Amino acid sequence: MKKYQMLINGARVDPATGAWFESVNPFTAQAWAQVPRGSKDDIDRAVSAAKAAFYGDWRNLTATARGALLRRLGDLIAADADRLATIESTDNGKLFAEMRGQLNYIPQWFYYFGGLADKIEGRVIPIDKPGVFNFTREEPLGVIAAITPWNSPLLLAAWKLAPALAAGNTVVWKPSEFSSVSALEFGELFEKAGFPPGVVNIVTGYGNEVGEPLVTHPDVAKVAFTGGDRTGEQVYQMAARGIKHVTLELGGKSANIVFDDADLDSAVKGVVSGIFAATGQTCIAGSRALLHRPIHDAFVEKLLALAKTARMGNPLDLNTQVGPVTTQPQYNKVLDYIRVAKEEGAVCRLGGAAATRAECGSGWFVEPTIFTGVNPSMRIANEEVFGPVLSIIPFDDEDEAVRIANNTVYGLAAGVWTTSIRRALMMSERLEAGTVWVNTYRAVSYMSPFGGYKRSGIGRESGLDAVREYLQTKSVWIDISGNTPNPFVMR
Ligand code: NDP
Repeated sequence: MKKYQMLINGARVDPATGAWFESVNPFTAQAWAQVPRGSKDDIDRAVSAAKAAFYGDWRNLTATARGALLRRLGDLIAADADRLATIESTDNGKLFAEMRGQLNYIPQWFYYFGGLADKIEGRVIPIDKPGVFNFTREEPLGVIAAITPWNSPLLLAAWKLAPALAAGNTVVWKPSEFSSVSALEFGELFEKAGFPPGVVNIVTGYGNEVGEPLVTHPDVAKVAFTGGDRTGEQVYQMAARGIKHVTLELGGKSANIVFDDADLDSAVKGVVSGIFAATGQTCIAGSRALLHRPIHDAFVEKLLALAKTARMGNPLDLNTQVGPVTTQPQYNKVLDYIRVAKEEGAVCRLGGAAATRAECGSGWFVEPTIFTGVNPSMRIANEEVFGPVLSIIPFDDEDEAVRIANNTVYGLAAGVWTTSIRRALMMSERLEAGTVWVNTYRAVSYMSPFGGYKRSGIGRESGLDAVREYLQTKSVWIDISGNTPNPFVMR
C-alpha cells in the first residue's frame, strides 16, 4: 500500500502528527493507500509558504508567464489523464468512463484561464472631477483556501485552482479525506510544469483537523469551498469572523421537468442521466422528476424500462453504468432515505434496497431506485440524498411545475423537456436555479458560469465570472492639475 506525503512549499513532506489514515476503495471495501493526517501545524507551514510565494516568486512573474505555466500544466494533465482517472475511480468508486471523461476535459480549464491570465485589465474612468486621472487595477486577493469534496475531486479542484492562479493568487488545497490520493498525485505536476514552490500546497486530513485551521487562518484571504450545505454554512460562519471572501458551491434538489409536448425518448434518457449517472452522487443530480400529468404513466413505464437495464459492477470496467456509493456513511444515508420514503408513503417502483448482484462484490452498492406518488412535502422530495434515488412528482400546468420546482431551499440546477420555444424561455426565466438545461442535462463547460441560487451557494465557477471571484478592485487617483485644492473640503 503506497504511503503518500503532502505537498508544502514544493517539497514532499510527512505530516507533523506523524500519523496516516487509510483510503478505502469503495468497490472492494478494502484500504488501498495511506494518506497523511495533516493538522494545524501543517496548515501553518502551507499558508506561510503560499504567502511567501504570493509576495515573492509568483508576484514577480508576468501575467503572460503565469498563463504559460497554467497551459503547460494543462498539457501535463492531458498526458496523464488515464492514470489519474484510474486513481480517482479506485479512490471514490465513480465510473472510470466518467472520471476519464472529466480528466480529459480538465486541461481546458487550465488552457482557458491560462489564456485569460494576461487579459485581466482595469479601466480608465472618465471621472467627474477636473484635474484628476482615475483608473482601476484588478489585483489578486492573496492566499486562497480551496476545499473540495469526494465526488469529482480533480474537476472541482480545477474549477478553483485555474481561475485563482490565473488571477495571481496562491493556493492551499485541502481535498476530501475520501479522495485525497488523486490530489497528491496531481501535486507532482505543478513542479513538472515549473510552478515556483509554495504557489500550490496540498494538505490532506480531516475537516475539523485541517479544514477548520485553514478556513480560520488569518493569512487566508478567501475560501473557495465545494461540499454539502451544512458544512458550507459552518465554513461561511468561520470565514465571516475573519471577513474573508467566500465562494460556496453547495448541494441541490434539482427538478427535471417533463412536459407533454416533449420528445419523450430523449427526456427519458435525460432523466436517467440526471439521477443514475455518477450513482446520483453529483450536486446537480436531477433527483426530482416532475411529470406533466397527461404523460405521467406512460413516461414512468419508459423510465422503468430504461433504468432496469443499468449495468452495475466494477467502476473500472468500461461496460459498467452504475458504480458503488463512495463512502460507507453515504451508503447508510442513502438506504436510510429509502426507508424514510417508504414510511412516508411513496411507492417504490424500482430498486429500493442495497444491491446484492454478484457483480457488485462487497462494494457499497444501492439499486437504482424510483419512487412514484411522491408528495412535495415528503423528506425525499426536499432533502439531498446524494445517491441513485429518484422522486417522481406529477403536475398539471406550468404554474404548478414552477411552484413545485422552486419550492426548495436549494437552487443549483433544473432541466426542462419541451418542444415549445415559448415554454423553454418562460421556464428558464421562472426557475430559481443557477443553471437551467432545456432538452439536455448535466452539461458543463469551462466557458459557462456555474453556481447556485439560494442555499446552493454563493459565487460562480467557470467562465469569465470565475476569475472575478479571485480579484479585488483598486481605484487609483492621480492629480494632474498641479493645484493643491482646499484641504478642508472633500475633493
Ligand atoms: P462535505 O461538505 O462533507 O465536505 C466537503 C469538504 O469540506 C471536504 O474536503 C471536507 O473534509 C471538508 N470539511 C468538512 N468539515 C469541514 C470543516 N468543519 N471545516 C472545513 N472543511 C470541512 O461534502 P462531501 O465531501 O460529503 O461532498 C458531498 C457534498 O458536496 C454534497 O452535499 C454535494 O451536494 C456537494 N457538492 C456540491 C457541488 C457544487 O458544485 N455545488 C459539486 C459536488 C458536490 P473531509 O472530507 O475530511 O470531511
